[in-house]
Amino acid sequence: MKQTEKYYCEECGKYLFNTDKPRGAAGFLAMDLGFVYKMPILFGISGSHFFCCKECWNKWLAKHTTPEKREEGDKAVADIRQRMAARQPELWRGLQRIQDTLEKKRKQ
Ligand SMILES: [Zn+2]
Repeated sequence: MKQTEKYYCEECGKYLFNTDKPRGAAGFLAMDLGFVYKMPILFGISGSHFFCCKECWNKWLAKHTTPEKREEGDKAVADIRQRMAARQPELWRGLQRIQDTLEKKRKQ
């Protein structure tokens, strides 16, 4: 039998959802459901965290970081976003290749 794990907002304690999926997949599920899933490694915090809304995430972040750390983290996030945006065509081509390969495998 699969173990179901319950997820709660780490700031206000609100119950979010439960799933038997691994934590990474639960993150995607959380985002699908409109919740906030974060891996605040850029803010010097390890692991992945779940929140019911952006306000809770911001409150939680303020409690767990210093203004300096947040500024550093924000800069790092903006930097990564910029780099990802610049590389998007490349990423799309990469995805397309993966899809093509899968499609070919399926047809064989
Ligand atoms: Zn909350």
